[in-house]
Amino acid sequence: MKIAELFRDRTVFSFEIFPPKKNSSIETIYDTLEDLQDLHPDFISITFGAGGSGNGANTLAIARRLKEQHGVTPLVHLPCIHDTKADIDGVLQQFQENGIENILALRGDRVEGREPARDFCHASDLIQHIHRQGDFDIAAACYPECHPEAPNLDTDIRYLKEKVDAGASHLISQLFFDNDTFYDFRYRTARAGIQVPIEAGIMPVTNRKQIERMVTMCGASLPRKFTKMVQCFEDRPEALRDAGIAYAIDQIVDLVTDGVDGIHLYIMNNAYVARKISEAVSGILKASRNSTAAK
Ligand code: FAD
Repeated sequence: MKIAELFRDRTVFSFEIFPPKKNSSIETIYDTLEDLQDLHPDFISITFGAGGSGNGANTLAIARRLKEQHGVTPLVHLPCIHDTKADIDGVLQQFQENGIENILALRGDRVEGREPARDFCHASDLIQHIHRQGDFDIAAACYPECHPEAPNLDTDIRYLKEKVDAGASHLISQLFFDNDTFYDFRYRTARAGIQVPIEAGIMPVTNRKQIERMVTMCGASLPRKFTKMVQCFEDRPEALRDAGIAYAIDQIVDLVTDGVDGIHLYIMNNAYVARKISEAVSGILKASRNSTAAK
């Protein structure tokens, strides 16, 4: 199933997971997949070396497991900055042999101490290349608060349009905590002629360490409502987790009400959090699916 087709008749609801760290067993994520099975997301994306970890070896194995044992469509992330054309062609061949049709094409995070391979400088180079190699559905990343290396949002959106023109059929956004930044971004992308569906990236924040790491990595701005919540509950982990889940649900209800194309939930391999949120929003997603299908 090509993911782009899903957006025709529904508000897409998807999860993102990451392969276990190098010193943990792959079985831990397989247990998580079991726990997620009855939540029926439209697809699950699997990161590949995210955060510059260089940890991509299990991405394909997890994608196969999702497809073959759980009947869930996988979206595999594919970064390119440290790979040669030959490396990428080898990976694409493996994807084809294993029936993987959906790829999130990325430039990728820089791995410390490794020089870029220079065959692909930007995600748009990779998207063009993948199109020439096979019949894949390609997604790309976007940044409602601007990519940290871009001089400004208009320039970043100009390059985003290049990714869409190169063949990205849908976009998944970086996480954000203020829906107004997403609405402003969607307005600007539409003005720039970007017409493909944009999924909103939502990260339920469930512990303090996670917030600090995330803000350092992606520079998401934190609205007052959010920082007040964290300050109030930071010493009570269960209360902070519950508040983080409630905050994410509130964001999702507002986004769906506003007609968002899809919600991409960064579940951080936490099936409990995925379940709580899925159960809370299933009714509104169903209602929005029915109204989208009727149009
Ligand atoms: P690009 O689209 O290439 O953009 C990178 C920068 O270059 C931007 O500042 C852009 O404005 C600029 N740019 C783009 N095109 C041009 C051009 N033609 N000329 C000049 N400048 C240009 N990383 C991983 O390593 N593994 C993962 O699994 C992973 N998953 C992710 C999932 C999502 C949903 C998101 C949002 C990010 C993910 N990342 C992952 C992080 C991502 O790789 C980094 O943010 C990376 O710095 C940029 O990747 P990109 O594909 O957006 O790059």
